[in-house]
Amino acid sequence: MSQARFRKSLVRRKNQTQFNVLLLGGDASYASVLKQALESRLPVVVTVVHTLEQAKKLLQQKSETFFIGITSIDIASVLDLSAFKNVDLLGEFNLPVIVVVDQYEDEIRDQLIKRHVIDYVVKGNKFDSAYICDLIARVIKNCDIKVLVVDDSKVSRFILERELALQKFEVVQSKNGLEALEKLSEYPDIKLVLVDSKMAVMDGYTFVEQARYNHSKEELIIIGVSGSSDPRIAVKFLKAGANDFIAKPFNYEMLLCRISRNLDMLDAIELARSLSNIDYLSGLYNRRYFFEQGGKLLASLEANGQANGPLTVMMMDIDNFKKINDGHGHDVGDLVIKNFANLLKIHFPGDIVARIGGEEFTVISQSPQYLKSLSRVDAFRKSVENEKIQLDGITLQYTCCIGVCNEIGDDLDGMVIQADKNLYKAKQAGKNQVCG
Ligand code: GH3
Ligand code: MG
Ligand code: MG
Repeated sequence: MSQARFRKSLVRRKNQTQFNVLLLGGDASYASVLKQALESRLPVVVTVVHTLEQAKKLLQQKSETFFIGITSIDIASVLDLSAFKNVDLLGEFNLPVIVVVDQYEDEIRDQLIKRHVIDYVVKGNKFDSAYICDLIARVIKNCDIKVLVVDDSKVSRFILERELALQKFEVVQSKNGLEALEKLSEYPDIKLVLVDSKMAVMDGYTFVEQARYNHSKEELIIIGVSGSSDPRIAVKFLKAGANDFIAKPFNYEMLLCRISRNLDMLDAIELARSLSNIDYLSGLYNRRYFFEQGGKLLASLEANGQANGPLTVMMMDIDNFKKINDGHGHDVGDLVIKNFANLLKIHFPGDIVARIGGEEFTVISQSPQYLKSLSRVDAFRKSVENEKIQLDGITLQYTCCIGVCNEIGDDLDGMVIQADKNLYKAKQAGKNQVCG
């Protein structure tokens, strides 16, 4: 395929929320089990066709609507190339293909790799449908991942781009380290870089060292690449700050395993980071996140010449919460906290909402509506007052106090202290009220 035609065939599907999968051949019961497994776990619709002719007709009509193809091959006729005709048909229409095989054989594997199948799965393994789900989930995720390929050889860049595009990565290219640094600032969403060692203008090691000034290993995966058999090259890359190293010529499976493993690590770090910001009981942000993000928000307003806001901090505290715990038990107390958190999520969408203590919550909002009046805050207080929690045989109701500060101070702490003073006033004045 020419480079131009190849590029044209790469239909990017950014922001797509549903993906069509074409499942061709295999026995009908296996196809229906697989279809159900995929549709229940992923945002996919699976179209099952049983013959090559049906598939061909469908692909001629609307091949571009399909995201990925799955097919099986008949092990009995494996030495006969016609065994691969399903795979070849899907390939002709540039559909990435996952192949289900009855058993693993080197011969089959080599034939599949040659055909740029994205992966193959041995049928009958009780995890095969889970494996296919994970594989498709990874490919769906890849649609939003930009990869930078840095190599002075145009042919090498093209080969890598083709391999990566098969897995639906979006590929950006550079021909030396300096150009690659420029690409990193042009596209801050690049998540992975594959970089050659020897290049004119700036080599791979220097690129890695320079890139690490602004991009940590936990944010940007850099994989060094070299065609030389000198083992010192891998070490040089790793010492310069690369996450990993792969030798050329590529073993396609090895390349993709390494990329997936590194991206999985990024995902795990991102998940850990987000969990460390979330309060386990309420699902709201925690105290740490509130002060960190709130502080950043205030600083960015100042930096953008909006030092007067709008910015509002609300401190909230559930009234007589100790009595709820004492009267109904700690579990019911927890239920009330969750109930309050859900009401907050509904009433303050888009704002930073956090649980900063036992039954203490805070909201930080950039909405200008709180500058004019506190009626919207009071509406929230009323909705808490009107909330009815059904327990075994009884209906539990509760109230809260809210202190508001909408005058921007020097720092977040000052605003929190002011809002807290107002909260105290609300408590002193008899509870179940808003004080601004
Ligand atoms: P006020 O109306 O003045 O706010 O009184 P209060 O009873 O709500 O406040 P106080 O500070 O006296 O008591 C809060 C109680 O919240 C004390 C603590 O045991 C309880 N608490 C803190 N964290 C949790 C939690 O995660 N779950 C439950 N069930 N109770 C909690
Ligand atoms: Mg309280
Ligand atoms: Mg309290």
